[in-house]
Amino acid sequence: MSGDHIKYDEALAVEMNEEWEKQDSAASGLVNQGAEDFFTGEKNKFPDLKKAFIEKKKYVCCMDEGTAHMKMEGKLCMAGSGILYPASSYEDRLQKVAEIYIRKEINNITSHDGCGAADIAWKALKDSERKKLSVQGIKTPDEYGKKWAEDLKETVNMILRKEMKKSIVWHDHITEKEMVRPKEFHNARVVWFDCTGKFDPAKLGERIPKGFVIDNSEGAKYDKTKDSQEYPFAELAVAIKIALGDHGLNDKFSKSPFTIVIVAPSVEVLENMKQKITGRLPADKKDKIKVDGFVEPKK
Ligand SMILES: [Zn+2]
Repeated sequence: MSGDHIKYDEALAVEMNEEWEKQDSAASGLVNQGAEDFFTGEKNKFPDLKKAFIEKKKYVCCMDEGTAHMKMEGKLCMAGSGILYPASSYEDRLQKVAEIYIRKEINNITSHDGCGAADIAWKALKDSERKKLSVQGIKTPDEYGKKWAEDLKETVNMILRKEMKKSIVWHDHITEKEMVRPKEFHNARVVWFDCTGKFDPAKLGERIPKGFVIDNSEGAKYDKTKDSQEYPFAELAVAIKIALGDHGLNDKFSKSPFTIVIVAPSVEVLENMKQKITGRLPADKKDKIKVDGFVEPKK
C-alpha cells in the first residue's frame, strides 16, 4: 500500500465521521423516539409533514440518497432508474420500465455519476457483452447507466409516438457536484421504504437523516407477477448491502442502527410490512438494523 493510499483512507475516515456527526441529532431522534413519535408525536418538528407527500411524478431518479434527497419535485425513485428491474432481457426490461413511466406520466429520466445500481448491472453482464459495448464506447458502469437512461428515453418516446401522444420525455445526467452526498461514499442512515408512492424526503431538509428511497407502491410495479412484487425487496437488499458495506457508514451502525423507515398509507400496511421486512433481513447484519415506520398523516 502506498503512503498516498493510507493518507487517503485517513481523510475518508475523517469525512465519514463528520458525516455521521452531522446527521446524528436527526438520526438519533428518529431511532430513540421511534418513527411514529418522531414524525407525528406531540412534540414533532414536522408541521409541514403533509407537504412531503407528492402525488404527481415528473422525474425518475435513482434510489441513491444522493439523488433521492435532491430538490426536484415529483421524483419516482428506482435503483439506476430501472436498470435492475426484473426482466428476461435488456429489451424486455426497457419495455416493462417504459410502461411504468408512461403510466406515471414521467417527463424526465435521470442517470447519475457513481451509480451503484449501474455498477451491479454492468458486472452482471457477460464478458462478451461488455466487449461488444466497449466497441460502442461504453466502457464504465456510469457510461452503461447513461446508455440505459438514453435507451429508456427512446423506448418511452417510441411508444408515445405510436399512441399518437404529443408528450415526450427527456434524459438528464446528474453529476457528482449536483448530488447531495459526498462522492466517495454513501451517507445514508436510513431507507425510506415508501408504500404510499408519494414520500419526498427532500421536502423535510436537514431535520431528517439521509436515506435511500424505495417505492413499494402498486403504481411502481409493472404487474402482479412475483418478480415484480418482490422487486422493492431486492432494492432493499442492495441498499442494506451498500450502507453496511465499505461504500457506506458500515461499522458505525453498531453504535446506532441503520433504520428502515416504512412510510405507510395505513396502520394495517405498516404492521404487515414490518413483518415482511423483518423476515427478509440478512442474518449477518440483522443486529445493526432497525425496522420502523409511520403512517402518512391524513391532513
Ligand atoms: Zn444510482
